[in-house]
Amino acid sequence: MWRRSLNKLLAALFLLVFSGAAFAETYVVQRGDTLSLILQDTFTFSEVNSIAKQIKAKYPSYILKAGMLAEKSADSFALRLSLDKEIMVSRTELGEVEVELFTYPTESLVTLIQGRINTNLFSALAEIGESAELAQGLARIFEWEIDFLKDIRKGDTFKVVAEKRFVRGKFTGYGRVLAAEFNVNKRSHKAFWYKAGTKYGYFNENAKVLERGFLRVPLPYGRITSRFTDSRLHPVTQKYQPHYGVDYAAAVGTPVMVTASGVIVRKSYSENNGYFVEVRHSNNYSTFYLHLNGFNNAVKQGAYVNQGDVIGYVGKSGMATGPHLDYRIRHKNRWLNPLDFIAEVPVLERFDKKEFALLAEKYTKIMNPVQIFDSSVMYAINTIPVMLP
Ligand SMILES: [Zn+2]
Repeated sequence: MWRRSLNKLLAALFLLVFSGAAFAETYVVQRGDTLSLILQDTFTFSEVNSIAKQIKAKYPSYILKAGMLAEKSADSFALRLSLDKEIMVSRTELGEVEVELFTYPTESLVTLIQGRINTNLFSALAEIGESAELAQGLARIFEWEIDFLKDIRKGDTFKVVAEKRFVRGKFTGYGRVLAAEFNVNKRSHKAFWYKAGTKYGYFNENAKVLERGFLRVPLPYGRITSRFTDSRLHPVTQKYQPHYGVDYAAAVGTPVMVTASGVIVRKSYSENNGYFVEVRHSNNYSTFYLHLNGFNNAVKQGAYVNQGDVIGYVGKSGMATGPHLDYRIRHKNRWLNPLDFIAEVPVLERFDKKEFALLAEKYTKIMNPVQIFDSSVMYAINTIPVMLP
């Protein structure tokens, strides 16, 4: 008994599927095809002319390309120009041909993407099916925080809440990165996208903007006594030689702050520079702090320092006539004038701290869902759609 009804159902399905197929056939545009060649058996010569004219008017950049998909039936024609654009040709009730340009909507889905880095961020994202576009976006957001070439260690992890765009179910690219968290070399770096007024930027959990170039001056106070020059009379050697830094006269013991976050690569002494510190920053920048009286012993060589951290104290060690700090910036192999060097930082005039705190809390929860599974299972599920409250 049930078999007979099943057969009926199958027959109905068969009809449904194949009746459609009988009316519309899919055609792949071939090399050398023209609109009139494709349409000659469906439309008259003058109709084809009218169709061509209407297409040019509605879609000026139209070009028929081999490989394009078309659907033909006895009285209609649809040509897929791209994933989201389709030209549809039909007959009106009056029997005239009509061309319409149809655009499929782009859908945005917020997803949580997470993974573990074995070699670098690009391969880690590729391993979980994400593209280089996302890696580049993340590298830009964290450019002053993380040196993706030098800081990354095997086992570092990341979590990203990002918009993904789809047209007809197919991924077309990323929208905004709304929040991200990196655990790099046992340090956590967070970024939250926040907009106030017309301006927006990325801020960490303490509402500090991530895109922060360098502090203008590495001292709380000090007087410039010597500027950056290719040639000056050296006060000690009495010879003309370049001076690739800015000297700030200040009392012995005045704290010296690192002007941007980075890693202390040298804490050393030399005859010329005296006690000095070299800090390596992202984007191939280094800063130097010379003639110190001493170091801040809490800051070890190889340690990560945050912008504004005290790394040492003003002194007159090395070749110096009086207590001062000689501050230098190098980009790749070129010395820059610290007084000309300004890294722009976006200023949000209407930053609402309360609103930002709520936003940061919301995304932190999304990135750290209550873990029912052990972490190895969580990492196996790399992309999860997120329900935004
Ligand atoms: Zn100097």
